[in-house]
Amino acid sequence: MNEYDSARLSAILELNGASQAFRPEKADIILVNTCSVRAKAEESAIARIWDLKKLKIENKGLKIGILGCMAKNRGDSLLKDLPFLDFILPPDEYQKLPEILFQKEPAPQTPFAKLTNKYSAFIAIQSGCNMRCAYCIVPYVRGREQYREPSSILKEIEAATAAGVSEIVLLGQTVNGYRYKGLSFAELLKQVASIKGVERIRFVSPHPIHYTSELLALLMNEKKIAPHVHLPAQSGSNSVLKKMKRQYTREAYLSIVEALRSFNPLYGITTDIICGYPGETEEEFEETLSLLQEARFDGAFMFAYSPREGTPSASEKELLTEEEKKSRLQRVIDLQHSITLERAKLMLGRQERILLEKLSKRNTNEWIGKTGNFKKVIIPAQPSFREGMYVDCVIEGVRGHTLIGGFQLIHL
Ligand code: SAH
Ligand code: SF4
Repeated sequence: MNEYDSARLSAILELNGASQAFRPEKADIILVNTCSVRAKAEESAIARIWDLKKLKIENKGLKIGILGCMAKNRGDSLLKDLPFLDFILPPDEYQKLPEILFQKEPAPQTPFAKLTNKYSAFIAIQSGCNMRCAYCIVPYVRGREQYREPSSILKEIEAATAAGVSEIVLLGQTVNGYRYKGLSFAELLKQVASIKGVERIRFVSPHPIHYTSELLALLMNEKKIAPHVHLPAQSGSNSVLKKMKRQYTREAYLSIVEALRSFNPLYGITTDIICGYPGETEEEFEETLSLLQEARFDGAFMFAYSPREGTPSASEKELLTEEEKKSRLQRVIDLQHSITLERAKLMLGRQERILLEKLSKRNTNEWIGKTGNFKKVIIPAQPSFREGMYVDCVIEGVRGHTLIGGFQLIHL
């Protein structure tokens, strides 16, 4: 979501005559787009911002602004803590940017996000979140849900495909809860799939409670929707899920996994897990481990619980020390790594269509791309390869969690 916002901000800046500086030393304006979801995200942003201070000595005209969720969450206190900052601007005030930087009137409409590559484009369809999970700061910093008008979404996608992009990633905190005057998320997906040039559709992050039978049926019928979903589970324990106010049970979550994998055993399913939620017992934690065993995720983002001031769970007493939370986190990571590897190995020998992303930085004889089920593949470079091309290859090996593709065996 922040990457998309940064691309929107770039478009606003360019519309006002700015152009990209490829190094901070060359910049006259530096905007730091921040995240507040965990304390660590805020701490690393603050460390990066301190690093920028020295650039102001060299370039007296340099303007530094803090944007994103931290601008909302910490507000003016940031100006006190980091006195060399020029301004802070929370996400709901980005239309003021031209006024702040260029003394221009706020634009009546913000431009579409700048495309950052030739293969994939993020398209936000929802802002904010109404869910109020007990640990989460997002609803406080991003406000109530707002759904974007379908015609504007479709126009932005058409502009992206006209520029050569074929993969579209729809964004929202509960993206599959999208609705607009009677139009459901599944209906929006159908419209996206009918756009010329759209080859792969993804969406992040869906919420388990919005997996309607209409949506499941479409996922299985519409070939352009990639067979991968990032579906945050957070915990495998019903009592913890209840305290988190996630509004689903372990069984309901697993029934979605079951539906997708019985349709396609290689359906890519990735997730988010929080370890050491306040009051989480050893037994409850083990239920998360058993969820990983049962769901066999292709990958996971795993976090130690981080209390966020102002959220309901921040006022609950934490019984675990930081070390205990970290040790649970490590146990989850170790288990998931072995499952990720096992899922990667299932791809061996398969013929796969890869969307080429970029030449490998480590080895310029190799290209990096992704399968439909969202696995990273390294394939030997060919002179004809271009960013955004689709190539068919056979998965011949696994290096770490990455697949190695080759061409020897292909019979079309
Ligand atoms: N809207 C998405 C999640 C957005 S936040 C959803 O509900 O699925 C991204 C991830 O950050 C969450 O899935 C969660 O795993 C993690 N996260 C959010 N708040 C957190 C906290 N207080 N401590 C640790 N992890 C947190
Ligand atoms: Fe946060 Fe829950 Fe909303 Fe996701 S659904 S953004 S975890 S409140």
